[in-house]
Amino acid sequence: MTQYLTALILCKVAPLLYNNHKINNSIGVTTMTQKLILISLDAVGDHDLELLLEHRAFRQLRAEGTMVRDVDSIFVTNTYPIHACIQTGVSPFRHGIIENDIQDPNKKHWPWRFHVRHLTAPTLPDRATRSGKTVCSIMFPVTGGANIRYNFPEIPGNVSLAKRIALTLRNGRPGFILSCMLRFMKQMLSAGGHADDMIVSIAERMIERKPFDLMMLHLLDVDSTKHRFGPYSDEAKDALLRTADRVDRILQAISSSPDASQYSVVVFSDHSCLPVHTAVHPNTMLKAADIHPDEAFFHSAHGCCFLRINTPEPSEKIVDFLSVFSSTPGVKRQLTDDEMHTSGADSQFYCGYAAEAGYVFGQFAKGQHGYTLDNDKYKTFYFAKGPSIAAGQELQGGSLLDICPLCCDILQLEQWPMEGHNTIF
Ligand SMILES: [Zn+2]
Repeated sequence: MTQYLTALILCKVAPLLYNNHKINNSIGVTTMTQKLILISLDAVGDHDLELLLEHRAFRQLRAEGTMVRDVDSIFVTNTYPIHACIQTGVSPFRHGIIENDIQDPNKKHWPWRFHVRHLTAPTLPDRATRSGKTVCSIMFPVTGGANIRYNFPEIPGNVSLAKRIALTLRNGRPGFILSCMLRFMKQMLSAGGHADDMIVSIAERMIERKPFDLMMLHLLDVDSTKHRFGPYSDEAKDALLRTADRVDRILQAISSSPDASQYSVVVFSDHSCLPVHTAVHPNTMLKAADIHPDEAFFHSAHGCCFLRINTPEPSEKIVDFLSVFSSTPGVKRQLTDDEMHTSGADSQFYCGYAAEAGYVFGQFAKGQHGYTLDNDKYKTFYFAKGPSIAAGQELQGGSLLDICPLCCDILQLEQWPMEGHNTIF
């Protein structure tokens, strides 16, 4: 009898507990547990939707879900600070990822802030994992060392392939990463500056075969193509359509899944991208003014730059330099106190400057971001679709900080103090 009961529990009851299809919310209504796929499309602007909405995937997102347009990005408009905002729901001065990398004139290689040890706020994947949910992350920024069951972190920066693989294994889940690499080796090696086809193949396989509650993934094709060829190039247009095809593959994989009705999808972009014709090199200008890097050094964040000085107040020579620098062609204005504060830059830098559209600080690229929010064609967007989200709804405004609370509500996670709001339901 005991054996029969044990077998009954294992066969009938345990799968129900494991799958956890139904849970009770706080007001006692039985609701279906939702799975969430959070898709980041790097460097796609709101204006790119004119093209994307002609594609089947985006027409489906618009018809079956809610589209939010003219959304503010978050300054500094670079990938790592913003993806940390998406994960935490708070501004960079609260979450600690104030810029992509840590620039140091005395070091040859500048490390990126890809590891969660740089974070100073709670995160969506960590809270989901702690509440018993299964999380999968594929190349999502700032997930190195994260508390994630299936973790394939993105390791950016100027490192060799061998070192990148070693760092990926050390900071992610080696079994998961190796099985993905072996299975999709060809796509990994043929990638042109991004791994998007491999990322989508991993996502499709996870949807087909593995139970998870939250999946986060980051597609980089548009960003790398816009940097190289410019945001309005034919190549960028092709990259946008390739990216729409990849979103379509994920939507199709969900439709083919037996639990398709449980899925919610949130698709967003972190920042737009502006065309560039001229690079300004602030550290070369410091050198020409006979100011040593140990005295003053500019951190170049593309559309803005920040000055680090090694004394509490700048010397007369630095003050004189800044008055000349601020009237240099391409230097638009000094950053406001609010921009310095919310970006967290005032914790490490004396002051900062915004570049004019068309100019970048540091290395030249035909397309760049990192600009202040007061630029034309610099808004972003997001879509959300799922059982708790109105179909065909179109909203405007708000900020990318509204995405983390939306994701918490979809997953029925208790929220921590955040700056944005779920404006969709
Ligand atoms: Zn980005």
